[in-house]
Amino acid sequence: AKCGPDGNFSNGEILPFGPIALSPSAGVLNYGQGLFEGLKAYRKTDGYILLFRPEENAVRMKNGSDRMCMPAPSVEQFVDAVKQTVLANKRWVPPTGKGSLYIRPLLIGSGAILGLAPAPEYTFLIYVSPVGNYFKEGLAPINLIIEDNFHRAAPGGTGGVKTIGNYASVLKAQRTAKEKGYSDVLYLDAVHNKYLEEVSSCNIFVVKGNAISTPAIEGTILPGITRKSIIEVAESKGYKVEERHVSVDELLDADEVFCTGTAVVVSPVGSITYKGKR
Ligand code: PMP
Repeated sequence: AKCGPDGNFSNGEILPFGPIALSPSAGVLNYGQGLFEGLKAYRKTDGYILLFRPEENAVRMKNGSDRMCMPAPSVEQFVDAVKQTVLANKRWVPPTGKGSLYIRPLLIGSGAILGLAPAPEYTFLIYVSPVGNYFKEGLAPINLIIEDNFHRAAPGGTGGVKTIGNYASVLKAQRTAKEKGYSDVLYLDAVHNKYLEEVSSCNIFVVKGNAISTPAIEGTILPGITRKSIIEVAESKGYKVEERHVSVDELLDADEVFCTGTAVVVSPVGSITYKGKR
């Protein structure tokens, strides 16, 4: 397979949830060649099911596939597969206000490869699960801790794409933070260790007066789809939105802070701990 998003994925079928067979030398198991997406289906009050901007997820997977040197399904194939999966599972879409159906598309190097190289074959699959709130706080304010020992991503790395390895790198910091009672971890840039990047699974916004700032997309944070939507909404409401470097000092001086993501939706931040001070 060549690097780049011109995949030819065929034989899609709906199967019961269960284990999949993989070679022990599958590219994804040995070299982390995998991308995923996350989106949600909501039940509207009239019973219809609403998918939130699935094309955006398809495009993000396609963009990521080039960085991960793997083929990706076309936008049409991706969106069609998501729709068919949701339709086949529509009884699992919770009633309005009772949560949503989380949809997890997964693209992996499933072919066997021993030496370090892109896998010779790829598998695209989608599974779903009903979900409620992401944080135990629900939509009440969360408590973040700023991490300055571990970094999530470095310039030139894979932080800008939704690859599985990015999440492996946050597990330790996230577990340690949760054991201490924090809701999640906020990461700083790997070069200066002072500009905000993002939280383990969401983007961050800082409000000061009529201005809302959020870290710019420069290859080390995920271009969140909720982030993009919230920027549009905020601008339409007359806020000045700035995508730029945002320092820890500005964060600590903010009027309000919130996080955005498919899982966390829009979660207000109630407290921030940095260098042992809350
Ligand atoms: N950053 C990271 C690291 C994430 O995993 C996510 C969730 N996909 C986000 C930000 C938010 O992205 P989105 O709004 O597209 O869910």
